[in-house]
Amino acid sequence: MSQTQIATRPDWRLEIQRAYTNPELLLTNLGLEPAQFHADCKARALFPMRVPRPFVELMQQGNRDDPLLLQVLPRSQEFDQAEGYTDDPLGEVSDNVLTDEVDGLLHKYRSRVLLILKGGCAVNCRYCFRRHFPYQDIRFNQRQLQQTLDYLSSHPEVNEVILSGGDPLMASDAQLKSIIEQLASVATLKRIRIHSRLPVVIPSRLTRQLKELLVSTRLKPILVIHANHGNELSDTLEQHLDDYNQAGILLLNQSVLLAGINDSSSALSSLSERLFAANVLPYYLHQLDKVTGAAHFEVSDYRAQQIWQEMNQALPGFLVPKLVREVAGEHSKTPIMPPGPVSIT
Ligand SMILES: *Cc1c(COP(=O)(O)O)cnc(C)c1O
Ligand code: SF4
Repeated sequence: MSQTQIATRPDWRLEIQRAYTNPELLLTNLGLEPAQFHADCKARALFPMRVPRPFVELMQQGNRDDPLLLQVLPRSQEFDQAEGYTDDPLGEVSDNVLTDEVDGLLHKYRSRVLLILKGGCAVNCRYCFRRHFPYQDIRFNQRQLQQTLDYLSSHPEVNEVILSGGDPLMASDAQLKSIIEQLASVATLKRIRIHSRLPVVIPSRLTRQLKELLVSTRLKPILVIHANHGNELSDTLEQHLDDYNQAGILLLNQSVLLAGINDSSSALSSLSERLFAANVLPYYLHQLDKVTGAAHFEVSDYRAQQIWQEMNQALPGFLVPKLVREVAGEHSKTPIMPPGPVSIT
């Protein structure tokens, strides 16, 4: 696709407004019969459906098992109650970690803090632990930023700020510029990291302004995108990522291991290869957070380790993401490893 075609794509904000929110309409446009999904569509009452069009364009017509569709389509299984699944699997609400010291700042890991910039996302992923999280309308304001700067000044062990959400790229480039410039004034910070799924669902979110503001700060920029399947890496996205990579922005990807979507070594290996072709390295492969309504996506730890070992055999080490789970109260992500040098095969 040429530069001019990229330029004529609607503005990313328009794509957010134009996102599909009606499951029947999405199914019809994919050549599927909505009546067959009648029971499923009701699950939008649990968590609204939201799917930007560029992501829909990557789905296969007529395929009811499409790996992209299954990540975003409400399903009747979301009504199932499963043991061990709760509304707040990471204890973020109950521990009050969000509100204790500074609103919107999570300091769980020693050297880095996470800022909740925006509650909302461009896409609603059905497996997401935030489906019950009560901060849809969060907006990070100047008062919180000032408190964050004060907090960072008294915590010199923090050298990296992660902008997260929801999706931090729901913020405008002007807001991001102001936040990053102020963060850069904290001498102990070295890195700025953005965790976002937006580039995958709306590639045009990777604007030139965002690139320029990321490369003009003294902080080392890292962009962690979130793709779960190779089909999510469009040529358009690859071009934008290439541009960011050439500007000197480190590009990483995190995925969630999802039953029926990417739970095979072959699916994940082709994802890694697609990522590498787009100058992105796989970073984490997460085990699902046990959030109510997502149990049908679960892959057992045993199976996860098996897939991970198969990936090690199929790929160079730098294309194998770390297999981890987030455990409430732990001081890092927890690796899911066999208990020794044992072979599962
Ligand atoms: C995942 C996470 C991080 C980042 O962890 P890395 O291992 O550095 O990628 C930081 N803070 C919180 C609260 C997190 O959940
Ligand atoms: S936080 Fe990430 S995984 Fe969750 S709904 Fe938003 S984009 Fe999807």
